[in-house]
Amino acid sequence: MAAKSQSNDPKTKSPGSVTFSKAATQGQWGRAWEVDWFSLASVIFLLLFAPFIVYYFIMACDQYSCSLTAPLADIATGRARLSDIWAKTPPVTTKAAQIYVAWVTFQVLLYMLLPDICHKFLPGYVGGVQEGAMTPAGIVHKYEINGLQAWLITHLLWFVNSYLLACFSPTVIFDNWIPLLWCANILGYAVSTFAMIKGYFFPTDARDWYVLSGRSSPRWRVGAFFCYLGKFTGSFFYNYMMGIEFNPRIGKWFDFKLFFNGRPGIIAWTLINLSFAAKQRELYGHVTNSMVLVNVLQAIYVLDFFWNETWYLKTIDICHDHFGWYLGWGDCVWLPYLYTLQGLYLVYHPVQLPTRYSLGVLLLGLLGYYIFRMANHQKDLFRRTDGRCLIWGRKPKVIECSFTSADEQKHRSKLLVSGFWGVARHFNYTGDLMGSLAYCLACGGGHLLPYFYIIYMAILLTHRCLRDEHRCANKYGRDWERYTAAVPYRLLPGIF
Ligand code: NDP
Repeated sequence: MAAKSQSNDPKTKSPGSVTFSKAATQGQWGRAWEVDWFSLASVIFLLLFAPFIVYYFIMACDQYSCSLTAPLADIATGRARLSDIWAKTPPVTTKAAQIYVAWVTFQVLLYMLLPDICHKFLPGYVGGVQEGAMTPAGIVHKYEINGLQAWLITHLLWFVNSYLLACFSPTVIFDNWIPLLWCANILGYAVSTFAMIKGYFFPTDARDWYVLSGRSSPRWRVGAFFCYLGKFTGSFFYNYMMGIEFNPRIGKWFDFKLFFNGRPGIIAWTLINLSFAAKQRELYGHVTNSMVLVNVLQAIYVLDFFWNETWYLKTIDICHDHFGWYLGWGDCVWLPYLYTLQGLYLVYHPVQLPTRYSLGVLLLGLLGYYIFRMANHQKDLFRRTDGRCLIWGRKPKVIECSFTSADEQKHRSKLLVSGFWGVARHFNYTGDLMGSLAYCLACGGGHLLPYFYIIYMAILLTHRCLRDEHRCANKYGRDWERYTAAVPYRLLPGIF
């Protein structure tokens, strides 16, 4: 994905990144608005080809038993033509369209109509109306946090309807997997296009919209006018991909970012895996330990997401990214189709792992999850208590820092230098990567396809780490330099 990097020197351009023509002094952070040719070419490439990349993986499983090289070899040697492969690909069907429309509508209803009650009886769970992080324009949005409730209701209905009432087969998702892919693509492109049009013509909050153009001035209305003239980044494609609006909403509560990031795709993740497990049992009469491992480890990750949905409001996706194709299409298509490749692979290759190996994978997955969760928890606790807490049993070491929001207000903040945040600057990503590796290792060593996830996550999180650090350097200036001097490594102490 194109970087939104920022430099402390306003004249410096970093290769392959987006640059800022406005002086980036300590404490100001904002939106890129000039796009170099490399970023633009990458954006256009992804807009055109990302759907085919997803299709290639799913088709490789459907037609070539999950071999990534066999389709290419067939085409190269003339054994198959693209038209032959396409002819064997199931088209969109009425049934798939009905399932998909019912699914998304049901998730919208759960999101909009059912205020959270889980926080009233689940000890330690934080739900209901919560505040997000402060945006660069100094705005704090409110969110209705009811994702755990939506996940529980959805899964309860899934079990009741598929197993008890037999209204549909639990293999229904697998059986319609490619027709559903077309539906997901239609929604992904539709929502991204809608978000683009909405951003230009009826933005939710023009203050953020203007501030994120990178031009800092108290006269934000003038800036907003220029935005209306289409001068947001100067690149239509970049705007389309990375988004225009920061927090697009319909009405007071339908928040595009929270809904698309956290609902149709992530709630579906565990259902998709369950459907793959059901298909394995239908085909082979049993569910393999590898399929159980993938289901369990990924369900922990998904449930963690919903248990900590309030915390999630403070992550980069919600705090700093705009809502465009990158999030809209990514959440509708990329996430449900490529994050579930391990389960899909195991339908075609029912790997039964040796007990010791499977225990090793389980341990790696749980250790990765522990680091991921604890690192995120430490930062959250530290920020919530303003540093008045214990990290690993001690008072935390702190770097005091300051920054300025676009309305020229000065703010103070703190950076944690203890616990996992003193081991490396993004050790939460390291834990995430360990967990991701465990999902892939659960599939054995037969094929490359299930390892796509760890390759992708390594690229995603390294890139994310770099762009976050550019942003923090710009926001905190010298204070950030003090932090990087105190904690010199990003992901792995001594290596990177
Ligand atoms: P982080 O939770 O690491 O948040 C980064 C922000 O934290 C920075 O921008 C800064 O924000 C603040 N910060 C940085 N260093 C410190 C410090 N030492 N002390 C206090 N605050 C600090 O990043 P993400 O939001 O990207 O990730 C959240 C989790 O989600 C991660 O564990 C990641 O692995 C996971 N994730 C998973 C993905 C998936 O597809 N499975 C995709 C992306 C993320 P501020 O401006 O407030 O100072």
